[in-house]
Amino acid sequence: MGIDPNFDRNREQVGEENGVAVWGPVDPPEKLGIHGSHVAVDYDICVADGACLEDCPVDVFTWVETPDHPASERKVEPTREDQCIDCMLCVDICPVDAIDVDASRS
Ligand code: SF4
Repeated sequence: MGIDPNFDRNREQVGEENGVAVWGPVDPPEKLGIHGSHVAVDYDICVADGACLEDCPVDVFTWVETPDHPASERKVEPTREDQCIDCMLCVDICPVDAIDVDASRS
């Protein structure tokens, strides 16, 4: 199952990391929640495939290390989500549907 596109209604924002909103529940290192608003990545689904980071035309994503997370030991953080042009490439390319993009959440 992929990221919940209604996470902003179904979850609570529990903090911020590098200026990016974090939506709980969070219980590191195993449970890391959803990171981002306009561009949101479910860290508990992300397998660090990296296609989104490589192909995003405006370089929204950066790698962050997540040691001991069961799905992958690094994640793509939507650090520059304010630059997103809503092309939806990352949403379409993610092999595990870990990303949702919605400008109404910015
Ligand atoms: S929708 Fe397009 S511009 Fe926005 S983060 Fe994804 S790949 Fe980048």
